[in-house]
Parts: sequence; structure tokens; C-alpha cells
Amino acid sequence: MMRGIIFLLVYFTVVHGRSWKMKESLDKMIRKSVEDDVPIRADENSGLFEGDILIDQETKNYLLGGKIMSRDAVISPIFYWPRGILYYTFDPKLDPFTVDVIKEGIQHLKKRTCLTFVEISNLNPKQRNYIRFIDGNGCYSRIGREPKGGEQVISIGFGCVRVGTVVHEIMHSLGFFHEHTRPDRDKFIHIEWTNILNEHKHNFEKYPRDMGSSFGKPYDYNSVMHYSRLAFSKDMRTPTIKPKDQRADIGQRVGLSFFDREEINRLYRCKESCTDKTDPFRCIQLRQQGYCSHQSPEHNKMLKFCRKTCGFCGEHKLEATTSTSPTTGKE
Ligand SMILES: [Zn+2]
Repeated sequence: MMRGIIFLLVYFTVVHGRSWKMKESLDKMIRKSVEDDVPIRADENSGLFEGDILIDQETKNYLLGGKIMSRDAVISPIFYWPRGILYYTFDPKLDPFTVDVIKEGIQHLKKRTCLTFVEISNLNPKQRNYIRFIDGNGCYSRIGREPKGGEQVISIGFGCVRVGTVVHEIMHSLGFFHEHTRPDRDKFIHIEWTNILNEHKHNFEKYPRDMGSSFGKPYDYNSVMHYSRLAFSKDMRTPTIKPKDQRADIGQRVGLSFFDREEINRLYRCKESCTDKTDPFRCIQLRQQGYCSHQSPEHNKMLKFCRKTCGFCGEHKLEATTSTSPTTGKE
């Protein structure tokens, strides 16, 4: 009972908190990212929280209060995309090449998860929440869905135009942090603090997380969310992160690792969500009438009731997921 009241208090503080305070804090971070030089590894160096995470102080306080899954992801469902559906639009200033790479990144995620991506018009978006891909200063994203609703941006700027980086930034918007900030990371990597640029040492902090929600997953050197050996290096030659496993390679930006995919599918309850919620024969009839189409006025109803028949669940292997609850994070 008491925990419920505390949760509601925190929820209303975060979701309905003073918006000017959040805006001021966001503006400050955006200004800082604009002032920073374009780095070699843009997704590690946008000058934001953990390098490329756009986060306001209130969300930060909320998330770091022990409410983060021990691997990478936020626990609270208020930061999730309902039913795993992400609406997105492209800023008109993005060049066609970048748009193509972003589309490839989205396809990469669709093939391996149950997430649904719905492109919407950039002229008058009506969805409660949506992502605008922009050509900003470097690459960055906020962590999770904006609980207050409205637009949130993912920047795929100069130095960021590759599929793995698009996937990395979308994973932030799904609610994932970086692999190297896991609380158990010191067993797997050695941080060379003296090689890190002073002003970026905070990017290597570990955060308090609920140890009960590890899902038993091993530390993932191969995660697309792991930083590279030279992240924030003073001279870009001496490493800042050394894997304790000599054979391990870190910092890949090709695409989802096996465990990245597993984690997304767990967090978004893929096995549970990929079903029709009404008579499948009715869904088939409606599909034949074109109701599954994104252009159909009934599209939203089909997302709710006929996900499986309409093929909104991606092409992932459902049997590879489990139904572990992301809200408690307990196995
Ligand atoms: Zn990142």
C-alpha cells in the first residue's frame, strides 16, 4: 500500500512536474551538445548524459533511484512505448541518404523484435508520442518514451550515419542505457580513469540498480550499447575501457547482439503481445478489406486487435522470448 502511494507521488512529480524546469535543463544540455566539436565516435561524444543520452534532471533522478534494470533498461512502464508501437517521422532537413540508413536501422529492429514502427506525416503528427529523426549535432536520444507525451527527437547527425548507430539510438528511446554502466561491469572490464578526459569521467559512473532484475544475462561485450575501447580517451590512442577477456571486442555498431534482441523482446513482452485479441477469422476478413494498411482509418484498431494477422509483430522468433515481467524485473 505504502509502496503504491510512494510510486504515485513519484509518478506525479515526474510526469506532471514543472515543465519549465525540465525545459531549462534540456535547453542547457542541447546548447552544450551544440557547442561540442564533432567527435570521432559521435555516438559516444555528443556531450550529453552517458555521452549521447538526452535526459532531464527529473527523469534522471527518477531513473537513478534504483529503478533501473540491472542490465540496461528502465524499469518503470511509464517510459515504455505502449504495445511496442513506435510512431516516427523524418525531419524534412534530413538528406535522403541518411533517411535510407535510418530506414535500414528500423528494418533491422523489425526483423529481430516484435516492435512495430509506424511512419507518420511530419506536417501534423497527431499521435500522443512520436519520434522525430533529425540531423542534429552528433547522435543522441532521450532515454525511453517521454511520459508527458509529444515529440521526442533522435539525432542522426554528422558521424552517425550507419545502421548500428541508428539501432543504438533507437534502443535508448526504448529505455536502454549503456552496457558499461552495469553495476557488475568491474568484473568484466577495467576502466582506465587516468586516460579519460576529465570533463567526461561521469560517463563511466556505475548507477545503482535493482540487482534482482538481472535476468541471469551475462555481461555482453558484443552489445550495440557497449562503448568502444577509446571512448572519451584523452589522446584517442590510449584505451579507457579494457575488457578483462583478452579476446573480447567492444564497441561494435553493426547491429543488435543476440542479448540485445533478447532484452528488447523481454522488455516489450513480445511473446504476449503478438496475438490477435479477437477472432482470427474476423482479423483475416478485415485484412482482406485493407484495414491493416497504415493508410486505413481503422489502422489503430487493427494494431490493438489483429497484431498477428496484420503482421505487425516483426519477424522475430517468438519462442526465443519469455514472459518475464519487465515491471518487476524479477525472474
Ligand atoms: Zn548511447
